[in-house]
Amino acid sequence: MIERKAADPVKEEGEKKKENLNLLTSTQIIIREALEKLGYPEQVYELLKEPMRMLTVRIPVRMDDGNVKIFTGYRAQHNDAVGPTKGGVRFHPDVTEDEVKALSIWMSLKSGIVDLPYGGGKGGIVCNPSELSFRELERLSRGYVRAISQIVGPTKDIPAPDVATNSQIMAWMMDEYSHIREFDSPGFITGKPLVLGGSHGRETATAKGVTIVIREAAKLKGIPLEGARVVIQGFGNAGSYLAKFMYDAGAKVIGISDAYGALYDEEGLDIDYLLERRDSFGTVTRLFKDTITNKELLELDCDILVPAAIENQITAENAPNIKAKIIVEAANGPTTLEATKILTKRGILIVPDVLASSGGVTVSYFEWVQNNQGYYWSEEEVEEKLEKVMVRSFHNVYNTAQQRGVDMRLAAYMVGVRKMAEAARFRGWV
Ligand code: GLU
Repeated sequence: MIERKAADPVKEEGEKKKENLNLLTSTQIIIREALEKLGYPEQVYELLKEPMRMLTVRIPVRMDDGNVKIFTGYRAQHNDAVGPTKGGVRFHPDVTEDEVKALSIWMSLKSGIVDLPYGGGKGGIVCNPSELSFRELERLSRGYVRAISQIVGPTKDIPAPDVATNSQIMAWMMDEYSHIREFDSPGFITGKPLVLGGSHGRETATAKGVTIVIREAAKLKGIPLEGARVVIQGFGNAGSYLAKFMYDAGAKVIGISDAYGALYDEEGLDIDYLLERRDSFGTVTRLFKDTITNKELLELDCDILVPAAIENQITAENAPNIKAKIIVEAANGPTTLEATKILTKRGILIVPDVLASSGGVTVSYFEWVQNNQGYYWSEEEVEEKLEKVMVRSFHNVYNTAQQRGVDMRLAAYMVGVRKMAEAARFRGWV
């Protein structure tokens, strides 16, 4: 199944660039604050404010019509003090260097929060996958691996799926890497199909992780999941599975959206039906006449709001109108810094992206461990381990927030950055 951006904003290039700059700068602001609270000196911030390594590549691809088209790709490696870097590759027309940098920093934080032996990495290719044929997509995926092969590997930097990439793309990338190295290298990449060394539970891992933190957050807020009104922005990999898990848990999913619009039903949407009608890009709303906008969706009266699409969706502009009691960020970077302040002041609990969406990389780690040992676990084993990791991480961040009197986002950054800073210190880097 292909993940896809599911919110509507089609932005002017300049505007998008500005926002991505904000993504990176707002991440840097919180990293600095977290390091200051933990008592680390300035040079630690200087080390961690940008990726250690950033590669830009040009990828020539022979298109089906015989012409060659050149694509731009990136791979950012934020910090490898703890271990190899790890993180997904996104295929999207709006990918920029700063976005990939920010995303790689968030991967470091996620690994720190769930305590994996990794630093953060991220990759992206500027392309519109829905305009590429199957074979063009394969040639682009293989071309990207050839272009970045010198800096990646099972003990260096391990890619994975992200927006609009899936297990088929991981399979091509793994095959290409194995050809280059001349040995089978399943541990080079995670999110592979099961028959190629993928892990049970990886496909649903992000949504499972989000479900677990929703359950824990709802308990703290005294909201029973049975009958809770849930709104989910995005019907891609995270959003669609999450809708299913919430529906199965007895919650009322009253709103969902995709790139073209949103659906709303006060009585709860029929999620099984929507999943059946959804196409491989996560598009479903175009089949309906009665839709609402993404803006209206976010402001619906509900108990739990889950942005599971793209960045910068909850801003200073709409934050005062949000009615949810809990916001759980399944997407990377959906809430701006100013919006976080407004919502926190209003007593709305925000479970930040770097915690809420860390189920994906957690099961990726399980996949890599299974590849390294050549011994594979059952679905139950994976789920049991994921459950433990998510519950422990949620309460660790929540308790840090309570003890230090900070919001959950800053607490998550404090937890996420600590191991990396310590590792860099022990290595004698800072
Ligand atoms: N792309 C996912 C994320 O943003 C998963 C990364 C991975 O599995 O390494 O967390």
